[in-house]
Amino acid sequence: MSHATPIDLRSDTVTRPTAAMRQAMANAEVGDDVLDGDPTTQQLEALVAERLGKEKALFFPSGSMANQAAIWVHTRPGTELLCDADAHIYRWEIAAAAGLCGVQCHPVQGQGALFTVDDLRGHLRAPSIHAPEPSLVCLENTHNGAGGAVTSLADMQAMQQLAATHGLPVHLDGARLWNAATALQLPISALAACADTVMVSFSKGLGAPVGACLAGPAEFITKAHRARKRFGGGMRQSGILTAGALFALQHHYDRLAEDHASATYLAQVVDGAGGARVVMPHTNIVMIDLPTRRAAQVVTRARELGVRISEWHPGRVRAVTHLNAPAGVVATAAALIRQALEEVLAS
Ligand SMILES: *Cc1c(COP(=O)(O)O)cnc(C)c1O
Repeated sequence: MSHATPIDLRSDTVTRPTAAMRQAMANAEVGDDVLDGDPTTQQLEALVAERLGKEKALFFPSGSMANQAAIWVHTRPGTELLCDADAHIYRWEIAAAAGLCGVQCHPVQGQGALFTVDDLRGHLRAPSIHAPEPSLVCLENTHNGAGGAVTSLADMQAMQQLAATHGLPVHLDGARLWNAATALQLPISALAACADTVMVSFSKGLGAPVGACLAGPAEFITKAHRARKRFGGGMRQSGILTAGALFALQHHYDRLAEDHASATYLAQVVDGAGGARVVMPHTNIVMIDLPTRRAAQVVTRARELGVRISEWHPGRVRAVTHLNAPAGVVATAAALIRQALEEVLAS
């Protein structure tokens, strides 16, 4: 079986805006957000602040810029931030913390797939004239590198408390915090309360084309606004974009559980194929560990069969469920991924 247009499960960022979302974007009321404000952007920022239980939120063109603006404001050059060794901030933002903020990342290798309070405790040293001075703890939930794994509310609270005893603020990279809240059946504000500042993305599972918000105390967001300007992130008629994000929040948040169910289904179908082992997903990301380092061949064969997945590393491939792949489509994709694994791993 082959598809003219392959089913694209490389990421939840591949979603296209729906017709209704495009309509909302086309009809957006706009202003000049750099000059004196854009009404639709202000509406989104107010809604996100309210949902997250923070004083203020600020719209950014990307999650990476929002994370870096947060690091910029929280830290000083020559200090270090602690994050887990697989954190997006450490591994996938081209050393921006070092390059832009002059901050060293101190990666904490967890004992398990997810970084815990015990892992963090072991890396918080007593102040010393010889040791780098820590200035920030960064958490990530759901965790991208750990296959969309969810950190529990209790673990988040424990890490926040530990950071506080060392006088350190916490920034939460919550690109997929929506998924974590859905999986835990909690209001997103409960998770956001475990950090001083939170980044959430609209262009992952929520399916908007562009954007993220950084939320936190009003005074912090005023400084983050300056950082956004400095990083070149001021946007004029940004209401065109924030209308898509607003639409996504209003119409696509409640359906994330469907993506999680599809991912679980896919994991069950694929597990064991050709000796591959699936990490059972908490949310919408399925990591498939191969018995041999043949990820590139599996990706190529799956593509020929009509499904796009991605190589995470030579021994692991990744499939992500999303808005544009309803359950029936994921079922088709699951069978094709299984076939690709069996063929490649048998040969
Ligand atoms: C995607 C992602 C980001 C960055 O978001 P961009 O909008 O792509 O810059 C940050 N953190 C995590 C965990 C992500 O998955």
